[in-house]
Amino acid sequence: MKLSLCGKRVIEYNPLLRYVPRRGPKVALVYPAPYSVASQSLGFQLVYALLIAHGISVERFTWDSCGRSLERGTPLKKFKYVISSLSFELDYPYLAKMLKDYGNEEQKVIAGGLSVTANPIPVLDMVDYVVLGDAEPTIPKLAQMIFEDDLREEEWLVGESGKKAIADIAEEPMLSKQFLPLSVDPPWGKGFLVEVTRGCPHRCRFCLEGWVSKPFRERRIEQIERTLEEVGNPFEKIITISLSLSDYGKYKKYLEILANHKLQGSVPSLRVEGIDEELLDMIKRMGQRTVTLAPETSVKEKAKVLGKGFAAKYLKEKIEMILSRKLKPKLYFMVLPNENVENEINNVKRIVKSQAHLSVNPLIPKPWTPLQIAPIPGEREEKALRRFKESFPNVDVYPVKWARLQAVIGLSQEPVMRYLDPSLSPERQVEELSKVISLKELMSWRPQWWPKWMRYEISNESEVIELGQESYEAWMRAFRG
Ligand code: SF4
Repeated sequence: MKLSLCGKRVIEYNPLLRYVPRRGPKVALVYPAPYSVASQSLGFQLVYALLIAHGISVERFTWDSCGRSLERGTPLKKFKYVISSLSFELDYPYLAKMLKDYGNEEQKVIAGGLSVTANPIPVLDMVDYVVLGDAEPTIPKLAQMIFEDDLREEEWLVGESGKKAIADIAEEPMLSKQFLPLSVDPPWGKGFLVEVTRGCPHRCRFCLEGWVSKPFRERRIEQIERTLEEVGNPFEKIITISLSLSDYGKYKKYLEILANHKLQGSVPSLRVEGIDEELLDMIKRMGQRTVTLAPETSVKEKAKVLGKGFAAKYLKEKIEMILSRKLKPKLYFMVLPNENVENEINNVKRIVKSQAHLSVNPLIPKPWTPLQIAPIPGEREEKALRRFKESFPNVDVYPVKWARLQAVIGLSQEPVMRYLDPSLSPERQVEELSKVISLKELMSWRPQWWPKWMRYEISNESEVIELGQESYEAWMRAFRG
C-alpha cells in the first residue's frame, strides 16, 4: 500500500486496510508525532483496529502528514469527528498546532491516552471529550455513538466528573494485525508489538504509568503463543510491551517462546529483582544485546522518597551478572529536588565503573502519583545533572527545560492547550503557561494539595495522598537543608 506523507510516497504493510468500511461514518484518527513513531504506539494501533472493527471509516493523520490523511489525502477539516492519541504531555503542542492550522471550529475532538487520563483538564480548551482509561471497553461504545451522531454522557467520557474504564486483557482479543512502515524505519526497528501485561503491581511514587494504568493485568500465554505463531515477514522483530515483565506469572515461558521464535525478540526495561542467570541467558539467546534497568537510586534516603531504590552492593551483583554474559547494562537514575548528588555519584562509580550506559532524569512530578506534590525541576537540578555529566563518560541526561514543560502542562488545573506552540522553545512555552498557571506554587512542595484532577476516579486516592505525605516527610528529613 502506498501512502502520501505530505507529498512524499511511503510504502506500508497494512493488513487492516481491506476491512476499512467504505460507507461507515468518517473519523480522523490523529497521532501528533511523526508517522514512524505513530506506528509503534500500541494505543494508536489498537484504536485504529477497534474503530475499523466497529464499522468506522478511519483515515489516519500524523504530525508529518501536513493536515491530510495518509490514505487518501483528505484534508483534516473535512471530518466531523477527530480522535487523537495523547499519551505524553509534550505531544499536546503538536496536536494544538494541527487543530489550529488544519481543523475546523465545528468538529468534535476526542482524545484518549495515558497522560490525558491522568489529567484531562489541560486539553479541555481544544478537546471536547476525553476518554478515561482503556480502549477496549470504550472505543466500541464511542463508535456506536458516532454512528448515531450523538455523543452521550458516559462516566469514562469526561465532563465534570468521570471514572477510568478498565479492560480485562486476559479476555480481550490480542492485537494480531498491525500496520508497519516499510520504506521508513520506525525508532525501534520493524517490530511487531506484543502486549504481555498492562498496569504494574508496584507503587514507585513518581511513576505515571504505574499509578494510572493500575490494576496489573496479564495476558494468557496461550493467546500470546497463538498470535506469535502467525508473525513473520515483513516484521523483523518482536517488541515486548510490559511495564514489569518479571511480574508476569508466565514470564520465563514467554521468554522461551521469544528465544525459539524465528524473529529476534526484545524486552523492555526489567525490574532489578527480576534479574537472574536463567533470564539473562534467554535474553542473550533471543538476540538482544542491552539490558535496561531502572534502579533510580542506590541511596537509602532517596529510596524512601521515591518508593524505589536498591542497595549498591545488590545492584553491583546484578550488573556483574549482566556483564559476565557480555550483555550491555543501561541504567536509569533519578535526581531529587535539592539533592546533593555526590553520594549517588560515588556509589554509581563503585557499582558500574565505566561499563554501563547511564541515563539520568530529574524527578518530574506527575498527576495522580504520590510525588505530584513535589517541586517542578529547575536550576538546582540542572546543576546536579551537570555533575553526572562531569563524572561519567557514558551518560545522557534529560534536559531540565523539557522536564519542566512536561511537569507544568501535566499539573495544570486549567485548560491550557491553546497556549502551546511547538515552534516555541520549551522555556517560552513555560512562560506562556505562566500567564494562567502559578509557577511559584509549583516550585515548592505542596503537602495537603488536592488538585482538581482528583475529582476523576483514576487511581487510589487515599494511597496517593498518604504515600505523598510520607515522601514529603522523608525528603524533609534528608534534603531540606
Ligand atoms: S517505575 Fe516501573 S516498577 Fe515502578 S511503578 Fe513504574 S512501571 Fe512499575
